[in-house]
Amino acid sequence: MVVARVFGKSSSEAIQRENDRLAALQQLDLLDTPRDEGFERIVRLIKQIFSIDIGIVSLIDGHRQWYKACSGLAADEVSLEDTFCRCVVDCDEPVIVQDATKDARFSKHSAVTGEDHIRFYAGVPLRTKAGHMIGTVCAIDRRPRSFGSRDLAILKELAGAAMDRLELVQSAATDSLTEAMTRRAFKQEADQLISISLRHQHDLSCIVFDIDHFKQVNDRHGHAAGDEVLKAVASICKATLRAGDLFGRIGGEEFAVVLPHVDREGAIAVAEKLRAAIASQPIRGDHGVLHVTASLGSSALSIVSKDIETLLAQADAAMYQAKHGGRNRCVSWSSIHADHAIGARRRVLKAGSILFNDRRSTIDCTVKSIGSESAGISVSNSAGIPSEFILAIKGEAFETNCKVIAQDRQHLEVAFR
Ligand code: GH3
Ligand code: MG
Ligand code: MG
Repeated sequence: MVVARVFGKSSSEAIQRENDRLAALQQLDLLDTPRDEGFERIVRLIKQIFSIDIGIVSLIDGHRQWYKACSGLAADEVSLEDTFCRCVVDCDEPVIVQDATKDARFSKHSAVTGEDHIRFYAGVPLRTKAGHMIGTVCAIDRRPRSFGSRDLAILKELAGAAMDRLELVQSAATDSLTEAMTRRAFKQEADQLISISLRHQHDLSCIVFDIDHFKQVNDRHGHAAGDEVLKAVASICKATLRAGDLFGRIGGEEFAVVLPHVDREGAIAVAEKLRAAIASQPIRGDHGVLHVTASLGSSALSIVSKDIETLLAQADAAMYQAKHGGRNRCVSWSSIHADHAIGARRRVLKAGSILFNDRRSTIDCTVKSIGSESAGISVSNSAGIPSEFILAIKGEAFETNCKVIAQDRQHLEVAFR
């Protein structure tokens, strides 16, 4: 299979396609959602059917390939620059590499030369009904092998099954592990509560929180222990919250709360109550006794923040500030706002570039939220990115100088200068 890099050939067409692709991905809203047994089954099937080492179902945003399910590799995501799947995105069709050592595009790739020892790769697009490519389904092996037209047809069928499953999980209202609301159901109900609050001029606020160092729980005690912790944290929160509050699982280990009739100060108090409850309760199970903490951010309905996407984006930014400040703490959006003029924000999903070193260095990023004075940006690795840089959004006449105001391993909060 010949792969041509379409970016050089017709750049504006490719950028348009990339923007449409990201819009479809944002619409689906399944990036960073919890593990799902249906996708685990698909990647196990890929391994069994083709007798190979690695099966992946992935979603691809502006800078990374995120594994919805992966069997045979340890990572959850990988920088798009480092993936074979980038080729599938660029050419918008299946890519088969029988022996990567003999393929000029991949022979020097670290996954080939390094300890992953990848030799064979087959990747097909994961496509929405409207035809947008939002990710890939891949079969990968550590030995060279052939892959006939029947094999390719089977992999495409599995990609179809994965897409059907994505559409199905999107419609679920309750997360099966924690019994919290799913991200989509949470947002739908939150928007209804917001409309009522706006109509009757009631307060309403929002909290986002993320468990601290949760990867260590999985790494040290196993995934089952991690799942137990998620269940326990959700149950601690439900016991702390009121019956009328909305409680959703909006990511793997990230939760959100909407508090009707609660103002900014009230939300800070509830966040603190949740923080203290999570930090103080030992979680007992087969793994022994574990303690976890969480970092929380809060935001409140206002004249400029009157939809759930904005409230979540602002609470998210505050939550990253809490991580930055040392974790196991609560930060209110209003307090960041007081320190830096960063205005209102809305959630977006756009491919961006970080430029520095007199534009000689470029790093791909995904802009996750943006306002007129600030943005929230995800990167594969924030190490090495200077505190001031230029942010550009691909395909838009947007370029601005930024100053980092909070930073995490994979996230930057920036104020425009
Ligand atoms: P931080 O304090 O910065 O939040 O660090 P962290 O380790 O919590 O953050 P990171 O985002 O690096 O890791 C989150 C981990 O959560 C990675 C992922 O494997 C795990 N995870 C996501 N969903 C699930 C799940 O459903 N079950 C389990 N056991 N782990 C999950
Ligand atoms: Mg997280
Ligand atoms: Mg975390």
